[in-house]
Formats: sequence, structure tokens, C-alpha cells
Amino acid sequence: MSSAVTSIEAAEARILELRTKIDRANRQYYVLDHPEITDAEYDALFRELVELETQYPELVTPDSPTQRVGGPPSDAFAKVTHRTPMLSLANAFEREDVREFDKRVHRGLGDVKVEYVTELKIDGLAMSLLYEDGRYKIGATRGDGYVGEDVTPNVKTIPSVPLSVTIPSEFPRAFEVRGEVYMPKRSFQRLNAELAAEGKPLFANPRNAAAGAVRQLDPRITARRRLDTFMYALDPAGGARSQEQILGRLAEMGFHVNENRRKHDDIEGVIAFLDEWQEKRHGLDYEIDGIVIKVNDLGQQAELGFVSRSPRWALAFKFPPEQAETVVEEIKVYVGRTGTITPVAWLTPVQIGGVTISRATLHNEDEVARKDVRPRDHVIIQRAGDVIPEVVRVLTEKRATTSRPWRMPKKCPECGTDLVREPGESATRCINPICPAQVLEHLRHFVAALDIEGFGYATLQQLIDRTLVKDPADLYHLVKEQFLSLDGFADKSAQNLLDRIEASKPTTLVRFLVALGINHVGWTMAGLLADHFGTIERLQAATVDDLRVIGGVGPTVAEEVSEYVQRPESRTLIQRLLAAGITIKPPERVEGPLSGKTFVLTGTLSSLTRGAAEERIKALGGVIGSGVSKKTDYLVVGADPGSKLEKAHRLKVPVLDEAAFLELIGRPSDNAR
Ligand code: NAD
Repeated sequence: MSSAVTSIEAAEARILELRTKIDRANRQYYVLDHPEITDAEYDALFRELVELETQYPELVTPDSPTQRVGGPPSDAFAKVTHRTPMLSLANAFEREDVREFDKRVHRGLGDVKVEYVTELKIDGLAMSLLYEDGRYKIGATRGDGYVGEDVTPNVKTIPSVPLSVTIPSEFPRAFEVRGEVYMPKRSFQRLNAELAAEGKPLFANPRNAAAGAVRQLDPRITARRRLDTFMYALDPAGGARSQEQILGRLAEMGFHVNENRRKHDDIEGVIAFLDEWQEKRHGLDYEIDGIVIKVNDLGQQAELGFVSRSPRWALAFKFPPEQAETVVEEIKVYVGRTGTITPVAWLTPVQIGGVTISRATLHNEDEVARKDVRPRDHVIIQRAGDVIPEVVRVLTEKRATTSRPWRMPKKCPECGTDLVREPGESATRCINPICPAQVLEHLRHFVAALDIEGFGYATLQQLIDRTLVKDPADLYHLVKEQFLSLDGFADKSAQNLLDRIEASKPTTLVRFLVALGINHVGWTMAGLLADHFGTIERLQAATVDDLRVIGGVGPTVAEEVSEYVQRPESRTLIQRLLAAGITIKPPERVEGPLSGKTFVLTGTLSSLTRGAAEERIKALGGVIGSGVSKKTDYLVVGADPGSKLEKAHRLKVPVLDEAAFLELIGRPSDNAR
């Protein structure tokens, strides 16, 4: 660290080295959404640079990462210049740093009482939302703090972003709301599982995944990634005098505001809040990486002002990283539902954040090669919330000279069949359709997708062993006596399971498609297919070309799906499931960017029929109302509108002309990830 640097020449050399590393990390993180080092490692480099620059102020240059925020906006998007810069926050890693911050604040303000507000530091992506006349107008990323990327249509797909808000009368025409867009843990796990199944690179954490989702060229992909928001800043503050009041006002206006916030009379209260959330954070459905501490009074904030890249009135306290060093004892491979072989590192058990970790997934052959993980390696592993532990990197300096790279086995560990890896695919597979591991995984996947609780691996394994069940349709023909003959079943538990099997029969097309376990078809893809085809019969009649026209469906998926639906075995399975009593309900309420919004249409639209417009609204989660009432969210107006328009004006229901409507529903395009 800096103590080793004794001369200005040595300091300069180290500074240049640190800047190069940090610049590279920034690009990987902000531009490519694929960091190569952990946040803790990044923070350590950054801190070292700050220390050296403090020691040698003459070496500070305007292009130093310590003088800048974020990364350059990408050319793929139009640019938005922020009305006021979107800055970063000064970081603290120790409780003592927090007490120092309090002292600085008091020195800055003199002998006055200072209140603090603490908020969770959401590990997401900073976002600016501009509203005009109460309507959502522009959504922009932070970018380099001064110029961000225009991601208006993408942000519009996030259900918690209100498209129109009721504004207090004293409010100016235009105002800005800032906050964080994030990906809930569940969405993140699902996304990474899908990417792994498709052989695509995974996201390192929910923050990068959220950034990737927001910065999509096709907003419909953003919509499928299930993002959410927490907002924390309002400009102008519209009469609010404190951060506490701003948060309250934002919540009243209909924005998502995190409820885990608190006001404190002194810094010790703040410290107690840090301690509390360092423990409690794993229970949340989103990642937080620390606590943000803000001076509550807006007048005091103004008095304290800013330094180059952050306000003096706020501090981000970062929780220690949830990482640990351990040893890879061996690398074993598992056979998944579709025959995909997943290498898993068996670790010497180690505690991280109170949880014992003894396995870490290595995803596929390429991931093992990229990280070059070998048996007996010392590795750093990381646990991010409930997310499956991962090997961050290998400590190659501790590797034995006799160590050899790991090789994927040639044969399936379950059935001995030769494993196959198709050119261009990252997945290695066992292609034996009756490989017992695959049958078991397939059944397990089926019951999980149809939400039939109580079918664990042990029960399914017994059913397979006794040849009572060979495929999912067999589950619907089981009778009570058969359950009673298995280990662990009594009359009541057998009946419960039968009831749950029965209850799974009415289902949705999305669920049904997921349950079939078609290669590459997870919830997102099933949603796209269900929206497009509406019924299983129409999907079964689809050709590759019919599939290719759906935005978000790439060539591989189109091939897989069409191949699946044509295969005689799949046709038989679907037919047997339907014959066993499965009924696919027509889609009712779809979750989507327009969820919770009621639309009424009047007049004639020029570019699409009334039916097509209604279908599109429903596909995006909206509801069609027949008459205009106070509950109507939008009236869509075409040529020659009827009396509904007048009524909408009277009730102050927002009116969309055709252009605004088309913009809202988005135009299909073929961009996938
Ligand atoms: P930051 O993460 O240290 O903190 C500032 C940000 O916190 C704000 O911009 C805002 O987006 C966010 N925030 C969340 N909740 C908030 C709340 N309630 N109130 C106010 N702000 C809130 O700063 P940064 O500039 O966004 O990012 C820098 C950090 O990013 C680094 O410390 C590092 O952890 C990470 N990073 C990692 C790499 C890597 O390679 N791993 C590279 C670059 C940056």
C-alpha cells in the first residue's frame, strides 16, 4: 500500500499503475457490465489512489478516476445532459470513518444540531427520471455524471415507474426524480440460470444485470428482466425541507421508496442502524452493499456543498465483502434435466456471513477454463445474498507446480454414454434421453414449474425406481395406494399430494411451456412464446420462420423450439398431459410494463385495428375498460372519437393520441441481448 511508497517518483509510477487498473475496471463495469475484479478489490485500488493523491496533491490530474464519476455513456444511445450532475458518494468502510464524517459535518456547520437520515444503499444503477406536466418524459442513466444515456422506453417498462403522477399545485412544470433501478434477487437468479442454459456469459451480480437490462436496444427485453426501483431524490424539492420529507413526498406521488429508512439525532444512532442492517440484509429480496447516510436538513446540505465527485453532506458506508478463501477439493459434474453437464467445485467448508459454503457452481467447461480452476487450487469464493456461491478467482501463487488443468469427463457419470459438445455451444451434454439423472431432473423441473409442492427428489426417485413413473404425464395417473407404498407417506400426506397434483391441472400456457422443459425455454422465453401464439396448438403448428419473427427469439431458440414441437415423443407427451386433465387457461392478466393500467379506446386508429391494439395492451399486462371512469388510466384516441373523449377531459383522465400510444406499447424489433 502507500506506506511502501517513499519517493515522489515511486508514487507517480504507482499512481499511473493504479489509474490504468481502475480505468480498465471502470470500463468493464460501467460500459460492458462485466467486471473482472470484485468491488472490494476495486475499492482497495481506489482507496490506495486517493491516499497517494492526498499525500502528493501535485500528482492529481483532471483525468484521474478520483476526479470522475462512472463511465462514458455508450454511443448506442442518444445522450442526455443532466440538469445538475449526478455525483457519486464518498465511501466509508469502518465505523470510525462514519464518526469522522460526523465531525467534518459539525466542523462545516458550526455549533448546531444535525439530524441524519439513513437509507439502504441499493446495489443498482443510478437513474434520473424527468417528468413534465406530471407525465414521464425522459429516463437517463448516470453515465459520466454529466452526460448519461437516454433509456426512456426501457425505463418505461419498469412497472414501478409511474407514467403519470399527481403533482401538488405548487410544483413546477418539470421536475426530476432520482433513484436506483435494481434487479430483485429472484429475477437475477432466474436470468443467470437462463443465460447458463443458453451457454451465454453470466452477470457477476444483480447490479450489472440491472445495468445490462436497462441498456438494451429492445425495450421488450428490459420488460422481461423484471426490474424494480427505489427513488430517493426530488428536484426541485417542492416545499420539502428535509431528506425525510422528500422521501415521504416521493412515496405520496406514487414512487417506490424504500421503507427501511430512519432519522437519527446523532451519529451513534446511525452506527446502530449500520449494525442492524449488516445482520438483516440477507433477508431482503434485493442486494444492498451498504448504508447511505445523509444530513437531513436541506438548508444544511446546501451549506455543506460538494467536492469534485461527491456531496459533503452524504456518505456511503460499505459492508465488508462476503468473500472467503478456501480450497477446491475436487470438481464433480452433474447431469441436468436437458442432459447439460455442470461442473461443481467441492470446497473445504468455509463460513461466509454466517453460512457454511461447501459447493460452488462452475457453470460449464468454458467458465472453468476462463477462471482456470483446478482441483487443489486455493480460491476466493463469494456469496452475494442468496445467490449461489461462486468462485471469484484462483490464487495461482498458491498452486502446486504439479497441478494440471481440469478436463471435462468423456462419459456421462450417470449412464456412461459419451458426452457431446456441439460446435459453437458452451454446454456439454449427455444425449441419452433415458439417462436416469435426466429423467429425475426433468420430473423435478416439471413439478416445480407447475408448483406441485411436496414432490422432492427422494419421492420422485422412488417412483422412477419402481417404474411407476417414466414421464410427467404418469404423475397424473398415480393413486393413493401407490404413494402409501413409498417411504415417508401416510394417509394424510398421500392425500395432500394427490390434491396438489389435481390442483395443478388448470394452468397457464407460460407455466405449461416452462414445465415441458424445452431446451432454452425458461420463463422469459415461454412468456414471449405464449404472448405470440396464445395456444399450444398454434405453437405446435409453428415453423422455424414463424418463430424467428418474434422479437427476442434468436435462431438457436427458434430451431430448438420447432424441433421440440415436431418431435413425435414431445407431441405424444403433450397429448398425454392434456388427456390426463391438464387444461390451459386462456391468458387473463399478464404481468408486464402496463400491469395495473386500464385503457379505454375511442375512434379509429390508422396503423392498427382496434383488436390488435387491445391485444397488444393485454400482452403488456394492461386491462381494457369499456367506458371512461375515474379508474381509467388512459384514453386512447383515434380519428372521429366519440363522447368518451369529452368525458375523459371532464374526469382529467390522461389522453393518448395514436403516436403517444404507439410509443407506449413499443415497436417490435428483433434485438435480443
Ligand atoms: P458508490 O456505489 O460508492 O455510491 C454512490 C451510488 O450509490 C449513487 O450513485 C447511487 O447510485 C447509489 N445509491 C444507492 N442507494 C442510494 C441511496 N439510498 N441514496 C443515494 N445513493 C444511493 O458509487 P458509484 O460511483 O456508483 O460506484 C462506485 C462503486 O462501484 C465502487 O465503489 C465499486 O464498489 C463499484 N465498482 C466496481 C468495479 C469493479 O470492477 N468491480 C468497477 C467500478 C466500480
